[in-house]
Amino acid sequence: MSFDLTPVVDAVYVVAILVFILGLKAMSSPATARRGIVYAGVAMLVAVVVVFGVSGLSNFALIALAVIIGGGAGWYWARVVKMTAMPQMVAMFNGMGGGAAGAIAAVELLTNLHAGATVGLSLAGATIGGISIAGSMIAFLKLQGWMPSRPVVLPARQVVNFTVLVIGLGFGAYSVLAVNSFYLLPFFVLLLLYGLLLTLPIGGADMPVVISLFNALTGIAVALDGFALVNGPLGDAGYGMVIAGTLVGAAGSLLTLLMARAMNRSLTNVLFGAFGAKEETGGTIAGSLKPISPEDAASLLEYSGLVIVAPGYGMAVAQAQQKVKELFDVLTGKGVNVKFAIHPVAGRMPGHMNVLLAEAGIPYDHLFDRDEINAEFPNADVVLVIGANDVVNPAARRTGSPLEGMPILDVDKARNVIVVKRGQGKGFAGIENELFYKDNCRMLYGDAQQVVGELVQAIKHA
Ligand code: NDP
Repeated sequence: MSFDLTPVVDAVYVVAILVFILGLKAMSSPATARRGIVYAGVAMLVAVVVVFGVSGLSNFALIALAVIIGGGAGWYWARVVKMTAMPQMVAMFNGMGGGAAGAIAAVELLTNLHAGATVGLSLAGATIGGISIAGSMIAFLKLQGWMPSRPVVLPARQVVNFTVLVIGLGFGAYSVLAVNSFYLLPFFVLLLLYGLLLTLPIGGADMPVVISLFNALTGIAVALDGFALVNGPLGDAGYGMVIAGTLVGAAGSLLTLLMARAMNRSLTNVLFGAFGAKEETGGTIAGSLKPISPEDAASLLEYSGLVIVAPGYGMAVAQAQQKVKELFDVLTGKGVNVKFAIHPVAGRMPGHMNVLLAEAGIPYDHLFDRDEINAEFPNADVVLVIGANDVVNPAARRTGSPLEGMPILDVDKARNVIVVKRGQGKGFAGIENELFYKDNCRMLYGDAQQVVGELVQAIKHA
């Protein structure tokens, strides 16, 4: 006797979807974000497991093998990844999602090329998934440092890109009209090429926007595949993919717009503008770099009324967040008002600084985003910049700079600025920072964890 488990599968899917939504809601605050990720992970696990109950499915052993290999590799990588390499891991996982969506669409196209309405959905899923995996791989290479992060601008790129896209889509449409799967091959090759060409000219400070855009595209590709599969092997269980994909697509689209707004740029400008590709012009930097010792920096901090800490990627690299918490404790213990200025694209992934500082136990009500804190810099006795560079570079206010127009933290307006960094290294955008040469700025050289530790000791023993 055999049982049709489909109604059970459908019911469990509904529960998984509700848990997805709860997880997404919990992710909207740093206080509950960790719980949100656990909810979403459990919901995904349940959704994957119950697929085995869909009637009419075959090849269980192969599916289980794929889940074990993919899940095992993902689990291992996520366990061993360094916090600083998280962004490229996210880009890679995201690309895998897009690739999986593209592969599912490819199978659907190969098996159901004659199937009317769903073919359009599969073509759309294949297009978006293909662009997403190719683009995410370029993002991975740039973040991993295996490619220069600066935009790569090819001649006549808009015309070339548009032509590649149109010819690619033409092959896809023709393969459907002629019901001939042969033309799917050039369709996929040209779409992957388009994903590469679209992402190469994006670089420098625009990478955060493009990463969240590919995340959104992957979600949309999965949702489109889900619609196609509802009419195919998965039946109603395909709605699980539709809803999970739509959630990712919607959340990713919102994040993309927020990140673009944080950079003061339109999405079209990010995608087609090759921001940061121009060479620096008109930016001769006056002044000199003036070092300060940890002891002198400690006295400045200790006798301040208001200290604003501006953290950046270097704090993440140095894993200095625990020492920063110790510094926060000793300074507040001495009656200093300490605030943290968080730039939306500081670090290498959205929310990077919030995650690190929350993990170290800095109270949330001491974290302020750029719009909240920018007016306060002129009142700050000291701004302590810890491993930040691009997000505090006043060059962004200058016409002709590759960072032109990017909103920054106005740290140069404080009475004193102390910058913690190891040496003369540039930021992600690869340009000089005018802040470091200003009269009110002192350089405190060294690894952020070590230097902040020295500041803590100097203040404790003062
Ligand atoms: P930057 O990458 O501009 O600068 C980091 C600075 O940290 C460097 O100048 C480096 O100088 C210093 N540093 C590196 N290691 C250490 C260490 N161990 N101790 C102390 N200092 C160190 O960082 P920001 O956070 O200011 O800017 C982020 C940039 O990354 C932006 O351009 C943003 O657009 C981009 N980006 C952001 C993403 C996001 O989602 N947040 C995603 C992808 C890119 P030195 O070598 O001299 O020590």
